[in-house]
Amino acid sequence: SNYFKCLNNLIMAAKIIDGKLIASKVKEQVSIAVSDLNQKSIFPGLATIIVGNDAASSIYVKNKRKSAKEVGIESFQYELSENIQEKELLELINELNLNSDVDGILVQLPLPKHINSDLIIDSIDVNKDVDGFNVINAGKTFIGRDSVIPCTPLGCLLMLKSIKIELKGKNAVIIGRSNIVGKPMAQLLLNEDCTVTIVHSKTFNIQALVKEADIVVAAVGSANLVKGSWIKKGAVVIDVGINRLKVEDKNILVGDINFNEVKDIASYITPVPGGVGPMTIACLLMNTVFQCAKRNNVSIPNNLKKLF
Ligand code: NAD
Repeated sequence: SNYFKCLNNLIMAAKIIDGKLIASKVKEQVSIAVSDLNQKSIFPGLATIIVGNDAASSIYVKNKRKSAKEVGIESFQYELSENIQEKELLELINELNLNSDVDGILVQLPLPKHINSDLIIDSIDVNKDVDGFNVINAGKTFIGRDSVIPCTPLGCLLMLKSIKIELKGKNAVIIGRSNIVGKPMAQLLLNEDCTVTIVHSKTFNIQALVKEADIVVAAVGSANLVKGSWIKKGAVVIDVGINRLKVEDKNILVGDINFNEVKDIASYITPVPGGVGPMTIACLLMNTVFQCAKRNNVSIPNNLKKLF
């Protein structure tokens, strides 16, 4: 009723973009697409490789494997010792490149310092790259050609599309310029006709630039960096950051956005956890199905196409 509408306007609490819920819907569609492929005797497979025992990476990989199984994607799992030589890792990737049961190869980053990550990423067959980090796929994304889009920025874009706001002409500010999040995110929003600014660790006056933004995507890795005062009223705020904090002896996860401050200023906001994280995994599964369909010369299942 009007009373509640008035109250709502006064408080102006942001709507939460529920990444977990949207991810479960994407996974449902991926699972239908996998069944369709199975009918054609095609069985999508995803190989995941983790090197060493970094606690955060282990959790991410475990979730990726679990989700793959949930949607019917076969999971090939490799846990390698911290001390593995670059050459051995390259040999494994080469084997997986040749294995026709494997449609996607994911090497969890970061890798130990003695291994050249660029060399490893580039050794993955372009047609089995599911992260979109391979130079060829990254280049295609950059020039707006059909490509494998990196999972995290793709997840952010799907969340933006889920709220059905017009993206065309909007001012988007991306905080962070990594190859895996910031840069491809900028490209995707440029493709959506946003006016895009990337700010980073050497940018002067970040707050003033962020304050101009209709859409803010934060991918920094700095707990609660973005304050309420940085955000324009009604902006849409996507929080990619995952930061571990110890509060009163408890480990908690927070994003790069100060959620409590920003939630009353933004029109929409993604939570951490339960925002970008689950979307990243859902998009990985989707990319695996895309690569599988392409390698088998069948068209991308229609239900997945409709997600865009
Ligand atoms: P990165 O360390 O590669 O890049 C961080 C970027 O932030 C750099 O470009 C740097 O210039 C910029 N930066 C650093 N300090 C800054 C400051 N004070 N102000 C503005 N910019 C600053 O990190 P990344 O791999 O892009 O990841 C960023 C964050 O996102 C991390 O917390 C990471 O854990 C998280 N992440 C989450 C997901 C997910 O699925 N949710 C996926 C990837 C990364």
